[in-house]
Amino acid sequence: MSPNLSDEQKQMILTVRELVQSEFKPNAQKYMDGTFPWENIRKLAEIGVLGMSVPEEYGGLGLSVFDSALVLEEIAKGCYVTAMATLGEAGVQTRVIAHYAPAPIRERILPRVVAGECILAICMTEPHAGTDVASYRTNARVLGDRVVLNGVKTLISRAPEAGMFVVFTRIDGNPGREGIGCVLVEPGTPGFEVTGTYHTMGGENLHEVQFNDCELPIENLVIREDGFRKLLSAFNTQRCLNPSISLGLAEGAFEEARRYVHGRTVFGKAVGDFQGIRWKLADMYREIEAARSLLYRACASADPFPDPFLSAVAKITCNEMSIRVTSEAIQLHGGVGFTDEYAVSRFYRGARYGTLGGGTSETLRDLIGKRIMEATAFGDDILNYSAPGPRVSRPAETAGFAISAE
Ligand SMILES: Cc1cc2nc3c(=O)[nH]c(=O)nc-3n(C[C@H](O)[C@H](O)[C@H](O)COP(=O)(O)OP(=O)(O)OC[C@H]3O[C@@H](n4cnc5c(N)ncnc54)[C@H](O)[C@@H]3O)c2cc1C
Repeated sequence: MSPNLSDEQKQMILTVRELVQSEFKPNAQKYMDGTFPWENIRKLAEIGVLGMSVPEEYGGLGLSVFDSALVLEEIAKGCYVTAMATLGEAGVQTRVIAHYAPAPIRERILPRVVAGECILAICMTEPHAGTDVASYRTNARVLGDRVVLNGVKTLISRAPEAGMFVVFTRIDGNPGREGIGCVLVEPGTPGFEVTGTYHTMGGENLHEVQFNDCELPIENLVIREDGFRKLLSAFNTQRCLNPSISLGLAEGAFEEARRYVHGRTVFGKAVGDFQGIRWKLADMYREIEAARSLLYRACASADPFPDPFLSAVAKITCNEMSIRVTSEAIQLHGGVGFTDEYAVSRFYRGARYGTLGGGTSETLRDLIGKRIMEATAFGDDILNYSAPGPRVSRPAETAGFAISAE
């Protein structure tokens, strides 16, 4: 456990670790067929974890992004599917409701999230527009005290289980990124339907959902203006929580691998006694620790949302590290590592998600590169970067370098 954590953080980690290692990890295989891990979710609700992002006034723990990342890292060491299910409650959708929804909605929904009675789904991706959010076709028309929503969203996690959908949509057909806002949709709303199910290599199912003339009260229009900036701010949280799952998966796989090579004998000695294998372990270890340092630094920048640059650097590093480390863990097991009998294949399948969700590696590299060139134009340091305040003006010679809302 990192020595720089507080006593409270260490205690929280130990409580979650005990539950994950004794109950979640031994049963992880049974959720590989798309079954939702309700048992685990209820147990996490009992120890307060589902309310970790919910402010204390609504019965939650009001934990920081950093604390939430520590908890998800621990859950991912045992069960990727449960970590992903928990990400819904710890992540962007809870924070959107807590920060932007009117008080009556917060009072009605957030205590149910804490109790494990209301799973939250987030709807961003559309069949023709995932990364390219400016091309959303889903539209919410504001008609007096009502909003009418039409559109299709796809690759949606937890849709059949969700008690509330946080839907990012165009408002009144306004064009571009600036036209995006957010509405809340409850599953019983006429015109709402789950229309497709796709099983994933990680084990969980994803879904298509449709909104056909869904009439919503105006209170459900939680972000009407400045939606794209608010979306990205909240999304920087996801860019710290998604990689915390990648980190946990890598750590889980590393633990399996080092134990396996210690116990497995080939040519009269333990696999782990060969120098070629020790060098692999050394590389896995140093990659995990380097990625963890970047992630914890990004998490610590949250005020209330993490710094975009640090989050992007940490996310790519953890996601890509996790794919390499979990793959190497399979290699160290030999052929049995490829079977469902050993946890390493599950860790690897889960790790493959990281670079796809919460901002792909390609788009985040764009963001990082852009910030490096902005700093260069301003004559700023970029090495040893620490989160700056917003830029209000820039010198004439920087014309041509756009400052992204991210
Ligand atoms: C397990 C899982 C769970 C998910 N859960 C949800 C959910 O709950 N809700 C939800 O809304 N979505 C969810 N998604 C969808 C996910 O957010 C999208 O897959 C992601 O945003 C990428 O969008 P896309 O799939 O449309 O890819 P595209 O945007 O079509 O991108 C295709 C490829 O092009 C690359 N690319 C795009 N733009 C550029 C560029 N400018 N330069 C270089 N390369 C570029 C991308 O990085 C990618 O490699 C989930 C996905 C997975 C795998």
